[in-house]
Amino acid sequence: MAELISFGVDGALHVPEEPVIPFIEGDGIGVDIWPAAKSVLDAAAAKRGNKVAWKEVLAGQKAFDETGSWLPDETVETFRTHLIGIKGPLTTPIGGGMRSLNVALRQILDLYVCLRPVRWFTGVPSPVLHPELVDMVIFRENTEDIYAGLEVEAFTPEAAKLSEFLRAEMGWEIREGSGIGIKPISEFGSKRLIRASIKYALEHGRPSVTMVHKGNIQKFTEGAFRNWGYDLVREEFADVAVGWDECGGKPGDKLLVKDAIADITLQQVLTRPTDFDVIATTNLNGDYLSDALAAQVGGIGIAPGGNINYVSGHGIFEATHGTAPKYAGQDKVNPGSLLLSGVMMFEHLGWADAAADIVAALEATIADKVVTYDFARLMEGATEVKCSEFASAIVDKL
Ligand code: NAP
Repeated sequence: MAELISFGVDGALHVPEEPVIPFIEGDGIGVDIWPAAKSVLDAAAAKRGNKVAWKEVLAGQKAFDETGSWLPDETVETFRTHLIGIKGPLTTPIGGGMRSLNVALRQILDLYVCLRPVRWFTGVPSPVLHPELVDMVIFRENTEDIYAGLEVEAFTPEAAKLSEFLRAEMGWEIREGSGIGIKPISEFGSKRLIRASIKYALEHGRPSVTMVHKGNIQKFTEGAFRNWGYDLVREEFADVAVGWDECGGKPGDKLLVKDAIADITLQQVLTRPTDFDVIATTNLNGDYLSDALAAQVGGIGIAPGGNINYVSGHGIFEATHGTAPKYAGQDKVNPGSLLLSGVMMFEHLGWADAAADIVAALEATIADKVVTYDFARLMEGATEVKCSEFASAIVDKL
């Protein structure tokens, strides 16, 4: 019988045999990749004796056409009550004052972690020599920094007013004709993000968490993020983790929590990827790092993502690419990003065996060089298949 997932006082998700999981098909190529990804997820769930009762909810163009709203209240309410959901890409409405639908959903449900695992799948074409050395999990803060920032445009009364305030009250002389940006980073927001990353590292037997920041320049936002992280280790994790500031890189049998400046990190993830494991970072740094790392493993078209609130139990897993409108309805594109987001969702639900089965079947399919156009154009001797055929090939390997 189909039942709702619940979140216990123990802080754990309780997943019934047949959970009801809401999904947004997505605009553009959503019509291609959602049925493909769903067929693989269903087959893997069935293999472990489970079934997902999928419940469609509307957002984006489809919602606008059917209801006149880009993000109907009912959709938000369904995600709120069902806790866990999955979504394809959504068109960002241009004009009309609507921000990105993805950002809106994350803010309404306070999904403060943007989780982006980055690893290489055997056979995937990559621009680096040793993509197999990359195995990182990025925890990107999802609610503060530039996502909660304020900007005023140069030559506007707002800019003049803010400049005057900063000059008179703080002694800052700002050059005439400047746009001004302000970003907040709080102790609460930093600690809950870093806490989630440390718990993840401990639960998954990962050796380190690296806090990535630009604290050498922005001491009271980025630097404070780092300092609050080290404080958190002392306050809440002293028995199982230790900060670099206390152990100098010799953690013994504890989890090592260290930090690195963002620019150096972008070099070192290329030159010494094995130094990085779980990464906890602020919003803007996380944006750059997630995409740079995805490219390193050749996964820009198949990179998965999840947006999670570990305290309320809410999570929405999503394809990280856009709607690729020029390919919509052609049964052509790679369903990998949405499928692997489903894999992350299964892992989050505790269905690790089904998740591992899908990854193995995906790797075996790519190893056979049976791939969609995006990989086929980068691989020698590949057999190019349609989106749905790629999914069927994966199901056959399950
Ligand atoms: P995009 O939709 O990600 O497409 C850019 C290119 O990426 C495509 O032309 C294609 O490359 C490749 N690509 C994307 N998805 C692929 C897949 N599944 N398989 C293989 N290749 C794939 O970016 P965009 O054209 O800049 O954005 C289009 C719309 O999507 C906009 O409205 C944007 O706001 C929205 N968007 C939504 C999300 C989201 O919902 N999460 C994220 C980003 C953008 P080739 O041309 O080289 O084949």
